Amino acid sequence: NKRLSIGIIGSGNWGTAIAKICGENARAHGNHFRSKVRMWVFEEEIEYKGEKRKLTEIFNETHENVKYLPGIPCPSNILAIPDVREVTRKSDVLVFVVPHQFVDRVCEQMKGFVRPNAVAISCIKGVAVNKQGVKLYSEYITERLGIYCGVLSGANVANEVAREDFCETTIGYNPDLGTSVSAEMMVALFDRPYFSVAAVKDVAGVALGGALKNIVSMAVGFADGLEWGGNTKSAIMRRGLLEMQKFATMFFDSDPRTMVEQSCGIADLVTSCLGGRNNRCAEAFVKTGKSLQQLEKELLGGQVLQGAATAADVHELLTSRDLVKEFPLFTTVYRIAYEGMKPEGMIQVLQPPVEES
Ligand code: NAD
Ligand code: 13P
Repeated sequence: NKRLSIGIIGSGNWGTAIAKICGENARAHGNHFRSKVRMWVFEEEIEYKGEKRKLTEIFNETHENVKYLPGIPCPSNILAIPDVREVTRKSDVLVFVVPHQFVDRVCEQMKGFVRPNAVAISCIKGVAVNKQGVKLYSEYITERLGIYCGVLSGANVANEVAREDFCETTIGYNPDLGTSVSAEMMVALFDRPYFSVAAVKDVAGVALGGALKNIVSMAVGFADGLEWGGNTKSAIMRRGLLEMQKFATMFFDSDPRTMVEQSCGIADLVTSCLGGRNNRCAEAFVKTGKSLQQLEKELLGGQVLQGAATAADVHELLTSRDLVKEFPLFTTVYRIAYEGMKPEGMIQVLQPPVEES
């Protein structure tokens, strides 16, 4: 009954909120987990109280991530570490929570340093597309590092979770696939009175809900930019949810109920469309005419926009499989973001009747 050491791979807005949760639970369940939680920080120097300081040093002194989660005190058992290999070497459970754009190079650095019985859980919202097809980031991590990887995803805007406003989340974890850590233990690592965890075996459904809603929340953001009303935005969300479900069942063996019953599906879609980062940047894209790259810089303070990159990844896959027409909303978001299509054109996508079985 070895107590597990927890390592957080990432320390952004969600990364720090997740570290806070794990830090609290490592203390609360001392029989299961070692108290010290190591958090890998992509080191940077920031201006702090009139001088240039390293983010790790400030965090370890103040227990606050002053850049990515300001104003939230974190438990003092979280240690910020700039060396990802040190965190990897010393952890039994690796919690991946970096923007999907960086997973590749982070895995490259971790290779060869992973404990033989380690397991991972991915809180990353995105999909990995290449010429061979599409992969979940959990599958990608398994392939790259040779360890089992589950998924955690839900309606979890980081700042609200960090404030301890109540929310739900979903863990996709399938111990049948060979992992040394039970699903119950994973739930114990994340469940808090304000963070209610449900566990399902449909890893793909959980991962894809979070990835694909980022595209739909951009569509709703474009609609906000055009000042379209609630009815129209609800129509976009409904159509988006159907495309999310279709994608998950077409490319993966996902249970269609996951998208409509769990926090990782419908609930994440709604919360993101109510004012997530993708939604805000997409609204500003329409209102200001600035590029999404520029708006990411101006509006997100170093945080990373995921929806546009995911729309491009998904579009590449759909094009290669001649399936563009089957996913008109995803395709339209891509065209608005990358090909100069007018956002008003979204209305045509909404008009034809949906083929619902
Ligand atoms: P973020 O958007 O705050 O991104 C900033 C992080 O990226 C910082 O830790 C920064 O150090 C790091 N970074 C910058 N350049 C890097 C590089 N070259 N290599 C490695 N890291 C680099 O990140 P986040 O909000 O923690 O998001 C992580 C994942 O969690 C994403 O997939 C996101 O979709 C998901 N998520 C976010 C939220 C949220 O509300 N923020 C909620 C749920 C899930
Ligand atoms: P944004 O990245 O659009 O803010 O979405 C956050 C999120 O995933 C909430 O669950």
